[in-house]
Amino acid sequence: SATAAEELITPAVQISYTQHLINGQFVDAASGKSFPTYDPRTGEVIAHIAEGDAEDINRAVSAARKAFDEGPWPKMTAYERSRILLRFADLVEKHNDELAALETWNNGKPYLQAAQSEVPMFVRLFHYYAGWADKIHGLTVPADGNYHVQTLHEPIGVAGQIIPWNFPLLMFAWKVGPALACGNTIVLKTAEQTPLTALYVAKLFHEAGLPPGVLNIVSGYGPTAGAALASHMDVDKIAFTGSTETGKVVLELAAKSNLKPVTLELGGKSPFIICEDAEIDHAVELAHFALFFNQGQCCCAGSRTFVHERVYDEFLEKAKARALRRVVGDPFKNGVEQGPQIDSEQFEKVLRYIRSGIESKATLECGGERIGSKGYFIQPTVFSNVQDDMLIAKDEIFGPVQSILKFKDIDEVIKRANATRYGLAAGVFTRSLETANTLTRGLRAGTVWVNCFDVFDAAIPFGGYKMSGIGREKGIYSLHNYLQVKAVVSPLKNP
Ligand code: ADP
Repeated sequence: SATAAEELITPAVQISYTQHLINGQFVDAASGKSFPTYDPRTGEVIAHIAEGDAEDINRAVSAARKAFDEGPWPKMTAYERSRILLRFADLVEKHNDELAALETWNNGKPYLQAAQSEVPMFVRLFHYYAGWADKIHGLTVPADGNYHVQTLHEPIGVAGQIIPWNFPLLMFAWKVGPALACGNTIVLKTAEQTPLTALYVAKLFHEAGLPPGVLNIVSGYGPTAGAALASHMDVDKIAFTGSTETGKVVLELAAKSNLKPVTLELGGKSPFIICEDAEIDHAVELAHFALFFNQGQCCCAGSRTFVHERVYDEFLEKAKARALRRVVGDPFKNGVEQGPQIDSEQFEKVLRYIRSGIESKATLECGGERIGSKGYFIQPTVFSNVQDDMLIAKDEIFGPVQSILKFKDIDEVIKRANATRYGLAAGVFTRSLETANTLTRGLRAGTVWVNCFDVFDAAIPFGGYKMSGIGREKGIYSLHNYLQVKAVVSPLKNP
């Protein structure tokens, strides 16, 4: 699409850590194996990473088990734990630019997005959960009879966490922040596409005083390392973010092993609804952002753009013009809005969906092709005349493909927006308070953004209705995922 910007803006970055981090030590895989990790700008290998399997997961889980059962972690005062989280966040802040560069190198997202938004949000999230560590407490319960009853809120134990590749640092923060604030210990498996930044920050965590064994990082693939973690008998809780398909597998593995509780943050097909009273230029920009942000690789992407028939033509013309103006190119260059997709598999998948859109007779307004001959760049693509039963309106594409649908009235659009197995998020664009209220009450989704989109404060809960997931992350709600409630009951008087 548009011309790429000039200057390379990043500091050079080195890859220092490629091994697992278990019990405070960097160690090779038990098997001695490694796997390549790539630069999505070129498809070239940038490092070889220790490849985890069941044996590495076993070692990591026993380190986490020991750190939980024998201390020091849950035995420290909450204030001491809070101080370590704060020191860690401050250290990350000092390494902002290297971390952002590493994230961009491995993931392909625009460097400025990583440097100005994602690393700062990571830091903010750890500050937020550090604040919770010493404010977690139970209740005194007025039960019938002469009993003194209290509830203790205790950590669950060893938490297994499996994260995806689209926001490697933020997904680490959403999982690790609340788990550690509550006093749990962790084995985290990164996505095979993006192992680098988690190892880097985990090293900083130990510099900040985190005791060995509290946070263990294993790199590797899903069906091997991931499945071993989900089915481990000594893991007390599992948290997963990824596709709905894999979420089902994780839930099943947890059920078949030790019935560990599971939280899932899965796929979506989120509606973005533009009402007839909308201010069009603003709506165009927000709908564009809602879909194209992060190369379209967001679980909550506004991937069904519903536009009221009275403003449809104007919206469409402007949405197309905006997509044509989107700057795609090297994510390290200043001014670039869109980098490459993460890998060849995702790249091919997105191109298949584009072909399916064309075959199903949606109108291809712009884009539709790859850019260049190396790396995984795709033109910003807009389809109009999209019908509800087309594959591009039903499946999660996870790429820079905007589908525009027409609607007539609010009741109709609520029904159509809800006619999906997903329920992660929704966007609503209107100047009418009444319309906004009707839509926010009617939409079955875990987040409804009104006249905004992708607002991700540390305090705002995030998660899905229906097949978009189980449970909420961030905010006070995430603490519940990592706490057990113990009722303690005793007679008021000795018998
Ligand atoms: P995507 O299709 O976007 O790569 P996945 O849901 O497959 O998303 O991956 C998200 C995370 O789940 C990654 O860390 C991946 O390695 C892991 N994973 C994939 N398959 C399994 C599995 N069978 N068991 C446990 N984890 C898995």
